[in-house]
Amino acid sequence: MAQGSAKNRKPAAGTRAGGKQAGRKRLPRSRYNAAEIAEIFSRFRALRPEPRGELYHTNPYTLVVAVALSAQATDEGVNRATKHLFALADTPEKMLALGEEKVRDQIKTIGLFRNKAKNVIALSRKLIEDFGGMVPRTRDEMVTLPGVGRKTANVVMSMAFGIPTMAVDTHILRLGNRLGLAPGKTPDEVEAILMRIIPDEFLYHAHHWLILHGRYTCKARRPECEACIIADLCKSKEKTCDVPAPIVALPQQQLPGME
Ligand code: SF4
Repeated sequence: MAQGSAKNRKPAAGTRAGGKQAGRKRLPRSRYNAAEIAEIFSRFRALRPEPRGELYHTNPYTLVVAVALSAQATDEGVNRATKHLFALADTPEKMLALGEEKVRDQIKTIGLFRNKAKNVIALSRKLIEDFGGMVPRTRDEMVTLPGVGRKTANVVMSMAFGIPTMAVDTHILRLGNRLGLAPGKTPDEVEAILMRIIPDEFLYHAHHWLILHGRYTCKARRPECEACIIADLCKSKEKTCDVPAPIVALPQQQLPGME
């Protein structure tokens, strides 16, 4: 496939994909002012200068498949299955040749695997028929692929093509509301607020910083406020500590097959 690997992509200059929505309707306000928001993201950057998504993939096509498979499943569980699947098929042509039954066998440890196997085959076929076997670069085109919604398209646009987007998953939806950073009722509202308030210099990595903060520190059941580097800035009613943890830059994430 002529398209490059998702890793080491640089952000496209000045593009705010999805920012359009913010102007259409009145959105709830963030509880943080511009200086506080800049400080929060400066600390996230100091902790993880080059954050990566944790889904295993080898090119834009396998990234689309991996993100589509990750709905209601953990990245870890998806990676276990896709390591073998992508060794057999890392292009739409090879996936079609593999066939739905074998795809289903490879991903049967992932929730909703029957439906997802159907979608993987259908989206591979559509990529070949309508896009010359290449993953399209726009959200409007990407969401025409079976099993690909706005969130998947945002992840792929950011990780594969370097276009800053905000793919709101369960962690970002929770953080936006718990902290009052982006208090939206729906993922689309949270996305629009974040796209509006995050300064350009942080926007490309903001999605991964927020996901990783939600996954490892500001966890769903019990946030680990003693280990939180923004505990002094956080305005959540749920926080249990006001003293920020020291910022010690973490080593680069080592992901399966992405070393
Ligand atoms: S202080 Fe606690 S509630 Fe606030 S962001 Fe940190 S972990 Fe989450």
